Amino acid sequence: MNILDGKKIAGEIQEKIKDEIGQLKNQTGKTPGLTVIIVGENPASQAYVRKKHRIAQKLGINSHIIELKAEIAAQDLIEQIRVLNQDPGVQAILIQLPLPENHNTWEILNHLNPKKDVDCFLPVNLGNILLNRAGIFPCTPSGIMQMLDYYRIDLSGLNAIMVGRSFIVGKPLASMLTNQNATVTLCHSKTKNLPGLVKQADLVVAAIGKPGFITADMIKKGAILIDVGQNFLYQQHEVLEFCIESQQQKFKKKGYGIAGDIHIKAYPKASYFTPVPGGVGPMTVAMLMVNTLKLFKRQYHLE
Ligand code: NDP
Repeated sequence: MNILDGKKIAGEIQEKIKDEIGQLKNQTGKTPGLTVIIVGENPASQAYVRKKHRIAQKLGINSHIIELKAEIAAQDLIEQIRVLNQDPGVQAILIQLPLPENHNTWEILNHLNPKKDVDCFLPVNLGNILLNRAGIFPCTPSGIMQMLDYYRIDLSGLNAIMVGRSFIVGKPLASMLTNQNATVTLCHSKTKNLPGLVKQADLVVAAIGKPGFITADMIKKGAILIDVGQNFLYQQHEVLEFCIESQQQKFKKKGYGIAGDIHIKAYPKASYFTPVPGGVGPMTVAMLMVNTLKLFKRQYHLE
């Protein structure tokens, strides 16, 4: 079993981006601008946003966070988006999802300028993925594709199973894997005989949000396992059951551990697997930086 080391690859990508941003600044006097809007106080979202901001700043991106109360009126939130749409110093806008339940996600997202839609949320950008003519890709699926490419895993003809059909992970990734000639089965909570389908797969991607949901007995020996799940666990018995060693140690210090959707006992059966944390998560953040730089270069015709 080999680790798909997202943390390492993300570090390499970030180094390249930092260099390129430095060179572009010397040439043009400009730096890419990224603004993340976060609504409400979801602790996991707050932690992700802080991390994205920290890394963006480290790379020389002009990064800002706009924090808004969950109760903000939709019109006021839309007004914030309009202001950013018109700001020439901001090339990339991310509305951190999920939005609190009192907001209609699509009513809000629809106001985003598609040219600044850094995580490809909008129909026009998702549509280009379906047509295999996209210039930028959603961060998490794109990070997964980069990782597979880095380890020279040839997807052509592989049976791939995508568990989870969200528009930010499962649906676009299913298209991207199809575009790379994998044969993809897209599953969800109403899928019948999920264990039987997983058992046939050469590549298993889990984006479900349930710790250890894909168990070792479901996995074909030698399968490639990609775990998108990030589940925060606060009970010791859960941490011992679902978390890798480093998270068990973290639980002792911080009172929580992070687990994936694929059970850790499945790892020894895999040819390759992504650890949680340290697999898909850092790649998602790195791809946000890649996309920010791409949108900046597009705005100033630097491609
Ligand atoms: P969503 O909640 O939007 O989607 C979850 C999907 O899982 C749905 O399609 C749902 O099916 C499916 N599902 C739920 N229960 C079952 C079941 N019993 N059997 C089969 N399928 C099931 O989640 P996201 O895609 O936004 O995120 C998934 C996980 O990935 C979360 O843990 C999230 O935190 C994590 N994540 C991690 C990222 C990273 O960078 N590492 C980035 C984004 C997400 P249905 O559609 O029928 O309801």
